Amino acid sequence: MTEPASSIPEPIAAAFAHQRAGIVARRQDFGLAERRDALVRLAAAIKENEQALVTALAKDFGKPEAEVILTELMPVLQEIRHTLRHLRRWMRPQRIAPTVAVLGTSARIRSEARGVCLIIAPWNYPFSLALGPLVSALAAGNSVIIKPSEMTPATSALLTRLIEQTFSPTLVTAIEGGVETSQALLALPFDHIFFTGSPAVGKIVMAAAAKHLTSVTLELGGKSPTIVGPDADLNRAAAWIAFGKFANAGQTCIAPDHIFVHHSVKQAFLSALRDKIANAYGDGHNSAHLAGIVNEQHARRLSRLLGDAVTKGAKVILGGEAEGNRMAPTLIEAITPEMDIDKEEIFGPILPIMVYSDIEEVINRINARPKPLALYVFDKRRAELDRIVAATSSGSVGVNLTVIQYSHTGLPFGGVNSSGIGASHGHHGFRAFSHERAILVNRFSALPLIFPPYTDRIKSL
Ligand code: NAD
Repeated sequence: MTEPASSIPEPIAAAFAHQRAGIVARRQDFGLAERRDALVRLAAAIKENEQALVTALAKDFGKPEAEVILTELMPVLQEIRHTLRHLRRWMRPQRIAPTVAVLGTSARIRSEARGVCLIIAPWNYPFSLALGPLVSALAAGNSVIIKPSEMTPATSALLTRLIEQTFSPTLVTAIEGGVETSQALLALPFDHIFFTGSPAVGKIVMAAAAKHLTSVTLELGGKSPTIVGPDADLNRAAAWIAFGKFANAGQTCIAPDHIFVHHSVKQAFLSALRDKIANAYGDGHNSAHLAGIVNEQHARRLSRLLGDAVTKGAKVILGGEAEGNRMAPTLIEAITPEMDIDKEEIFGPILPIMVYSDIEEVINRINARPKPLALYVFDKRRAELDRIVAATSSGSVGVNLTVIQYSHTGLPFGGVNSSGIGASHGHHGFRAFSHERAILVNRFSALPLIFPPYTDRIKSL
């Protein structure tokens, strides 16, 4: 991977310059009413384009219509509704109680727009992961350049059209393109960069941002472990794991990456999991309820991961069939640390099943690896759940469920270290795109005792 380019194509430089020129006026004119209006227009444009979006995502990677509505449309509309409901309160300056050290003052925190922001989106949820952050950025009063993913051309073209029809380019504009476009944008002195993608590219983004001391939110990925304990409700665990892993054919940043199942319940859990998979995706890789793999390159990557694991001794216990860009929900076991599948984020419909006897082994293993984006635990014992959570670190935790922690607008969504920096959603997203400005006002004219000439009074303070 190369460093960001220093020469910036004219249209990119011009788009940035337009937004930069508008930001001073916008600081004063883009209040609650204008921000709400922008969000209402965005919601209307999304609803108008629902069918076009279903078609684009079917074309880009065969996403079933229900998944488009559930995972691309609804999260953005929900984010808009939640923001419209709470924005007045979020924007209100927050009064802070006086402290003895600064008696006679009044203090407040004012949430201010950061300025011109860049949103770089990935391909796996190319619509909602571009527009979700846009909702927060607009709510906080910023102007925004969005760089959608080049891997989903039909959706990115639709998104660009929708933005053009809804906003003035001085407020929001989308610039399509691949790595070179992304790198040209990264060379500009944005006020904030919100990046969603892989940890490897996240490092490039952070290095580019450092050149201008631009703040970043990095929504990254990793291998999210899932524990099925001896006391788990196995039917429920199987249902949630099948849903969380195979929705979008496993191309979800918070999908369970691999399972640790207690040896005493392994057979019963596998049998329940097979049933759930058969029920949801009976036709395997041809199932109409299963999304495709985004492109040939990723389909080859997944076949390579599976092939490497099998060559090194892993056993396929369900699925394994692949044809073109489609791959069946696949379960494998007998995983060892030499296998690439044990090292790389899988990001596809292959689910390694590993067996454990002592939870300490699992905790040590999790702690020996980069901090995951999500950790899932299925068990009924409250004390055991608390112990696992206290002994590990991850962006989020799902207990007796998978992936829907994403849908709670009150919770911060984000990773920790290699799985991400900062958070999004609801008030957390608003704060990510805001500068919290401290304002302290002197209300009494008395000269403080701390001014020179110094006397012994200082010692009595
Ligand atoms: P990616 O990092 O390859 O690409 C993301 C974006 O970065 C794209 O717009 C791309 O054009 C741009 N890009 C790619 N290479 C670049 C480079 N060298 N310099 C500058 N920009 C570059 O990620 P992806 O393959 O699109 O998405 C998959 C990854 O994203 C997975 O790791 C997944 O876990 C993660 N992800 C995280 C979240 C989250 O919310 N935390 C959500 C979805 C996906």
